[in-house]
This record gives sequence, structure tokens and C-alpha cells, in this order.
Amino acid sequence: MMKSWIEIPEKSDFPLENLPFGIAEIVTGKVNAVSRIGDYAVDLEKLEWLHVFDDLDFDYEGVFSKDTLNEFIEMGREAHLAIRHRIQEVFGEGFFKDNDDDLLTAIRATALHHISGIRMLMPVKVTDYTDFYSSIEHATNVGKMFRDPANALLPNWRHLPVGYHGRASSIVVSGTDIHRPKGQTLPAGADKPVFGPSAMVDFELEVAFVVSKTTELGTSIPAADAEEGIFGFLLFNDLSARDIQSWEYVPLGPFLSKNFGSVVSPWIVTLEALEPFRVQGPVQDPEVLPYLKTSGLRNFNIQLDVLIKPQQGTENLVCRSNFRHMYWNICQQLAHHTINGCNITTGDLYASGTISGPEPGSYGSMLELTWRGANPIHLSDGTERKFLNDNDTVIIRGYAENEHLRVGFGECVTTILPVRS
Ligand code: MN
Repeated sequence: MMKSWIEIPEKSDFPLENLPFGIAEIVTGKVNAVSRIGDYAVDLEKLEWLHVFDDLDFDYEGVFSKDTLNEFIEMGREAHLAIRHRIQEVFGEGFFKDNDDDLLTAIRATALHHISGIRMLMPVKVTDYTDFYSSIEHATNVGKMFRDPANALLPNWRHLPVGYHGRASSIVVSGTDIHRPKGQTLPAGADKPVFGPSAMVDFELEVAFVVSKTTELGTSIPAADAEEGIFGFLLFNDLSARDIQSWEYVPLGPFLSKNFGSVVSPWIVTLEALEPFRVQGPVQDPEVLPYLKTSGLRNFNIQLDVLIKPQQGTENLVCRSNFRHMYWNICQQLAHHTINGCNITTGDLYASGTISGPEPGSYGSMLELTWRGANPIHLSDGTERKFLNDNDTVIIRGYAENEHLRVGFGECVTTILPVRS
């Protein structure tokens, strides 16, 4: 692990090797771009004002003073890497020889903010949002429950990364609470629908990526080049109302069951930070078509935990999964998404779909964990859950770890509020 002159607590998600990007409200009404080291947000606007980035080959003037990262993301990979390397240099142990160094004094006075004293905001203006369905375990579980246990996967599933176009307007940052949605559902055995609060509000454990590329309509991104246009990853909770979903989704797919609120973690962790944690994905059988072929290590070993905390209770670990289980990788997702000429925009968000692993404790939704309510989860306060109750808080944590290094996302948190009257 790289050493910094800032104290980094043991097991921190944010060593100098991470350096994620986010947007923070530093004091009331003052918003700008930040990175993070240990428990401190590093104010990128102030570093720019202190001329820390002056001799780099890019003009960053003004980009860290915006209320989203879109303009910085648009600058491209080389510009992001230059900032990353300069921060690693300046915050590295031994950079300042003299404790009275003017720059060190100025950084300490103006550019470091303890994380407890600031508020993290939505890091990016999401221009478009697509949700994939790329976990074979999840797709198989859902297929068994809703269709045919013997033929759980539909015939197309192993040939293309299935996805749907979601809605960007209702994607919010961690810490934003979401009201239980109302809608139409078809009660079991009934021949006509009823209207009311959803009784089956669920989380979906996902990881999303943000792109740093804008392309023209009619062009495609080859799988081999896809990572060049990917800025970084976020934890993603795609809240879902299962009772609304099962009535509405035929024949065009999810609609109001999925757009009442989806929650992202505030820090975008870059591909560079996750470089040491690349792993081989599952074997794809049958062989995929040529435009979907990838080589090298395209999956990432990221441990993912989901916890439920009732209003008066403590945290309960209900799921432990891993991003490495994804059958379709991010290069294949982006290649497939653009193979018909669909254009993409800097700031687009592409979510993985629910990430389930092979064991029951690794299923990434209540739908699967409780098998549609048949096997309720028992919480430490003595209550049980088939789906989420009002005032339950859902916490997703994600981190990659080896014997030398831990790089994490922090948390993605949301509380389910009662239906809005
Ligand atoms: Mn989803």
C-alpha cells in the first residue's frame, strides 16, 4: 500500500491507490469536485486554485467548480490519469520535506475536509441509463420462479447481454430515502387488478459504470476498445416493486416497477484503481458471436455485501456476493449496446443487473433470497422479512481486497419510507 502523510485507517476503502471522484457540498451551498484519502475529502477546486495542477498537460480551470463531474469526465482518460498521478505524488509520504512548507500549510487549511463534515451529492448528471441482466445465476433463479424450472434461461440469454432502457430522472445518491410506490397489481387468483401501495418492495444488488465518451449515431464501439470509454464504477441499488413488475412487464419489460428510485454510491471508483483486482469471467458456452468476443481479464473481484437495518434494530447481513460472477462483462455490454449504431453520451450509466452468486446466501435480491416470499429472512430483532418493510434501511458495501491492498466504494444507503400521502 502507498503511504501518505494523511493518516489512512486500517481497512479503509480509500488508500492513495483508490482516489475516487465525487461531488460534495463543503459548506452550505458551496459545491465542487472532490477525491478521497482515508477519512478526508480532498477538494480538487482548491488544489487547482493552489496551482497543484498547473504544469499538467490539460486545462482544468473551472472543471472542479461544477456541481457534476460530467465536464471533467468528458476530458478523457489521459486527463483523469494526470490528476490521479499528481494527487498520489503530492499526498505521498515524503513529498513535503518541510512541515512548514507553504503549499502543505495551504492544503491543510483549505483543501482537506473530514468526511463527517461534508455532504456527498450526486456525482454525475446521468444522461441516459440502461440496466442489463448479466448474472446467469440471477436470470436462472428468476426464470425458475416466473416461468419454467426446467428451461429457466430464455433461448437468447447466452447469446447476447439482455438489457432494457431505464429512466435517468429517478436515480439518486446514497442517503436519499425513497417512498414506497403505489401502483396496479394483480392479487393471486384475481381476474382484475387493484390499486394501492406495493407490498413487495425489493432491492437489487448491482454495480454500474459511467462512460467518458460521446459517440455519433450510426457508429459502434468494438468490444476490444470499450474500456477506453469507461470512467469508473458505482454501487447501484435498483429498487424494484415485484408485485407491480409481475403485472406490468408483459410484453415490453419493466416500467413503473423500476423507476420510483434507484440509488448510487457517491464515489466513482476508476478502472485504474481496480486494475489489481481483474479476474477471468465465467466460461461462455456456447461461444459468442465475433463482435462480442473479448480477451484478457475483463471481470473484477469486488466483494459485495447487502445489509438490512430495521428502524429500531441493528444491521443484518442478508447477502454476500461478488461482481466477478457476471457472465457478460462490461466490454461485451457496451459493444452490444452500440452494435446497431446506438450512440452513447458522457455521463451515461450502465448497470449490471442483479448480481447473484451460486450459493443461496449470495443472491442479490429479496425475491431470490426468500424465493418469492416462501422462505422469509430472520433478522436479529426477532422479526422476519419476505420483502422490505417501511423504515427499513438497505446498505450496500463493496470492496476489492488482496493481501497488500483494499480499494472500496464506501456505502450505498437508502431507507424505504411509507407511501407518500
Ligand atoms: Mn436491475
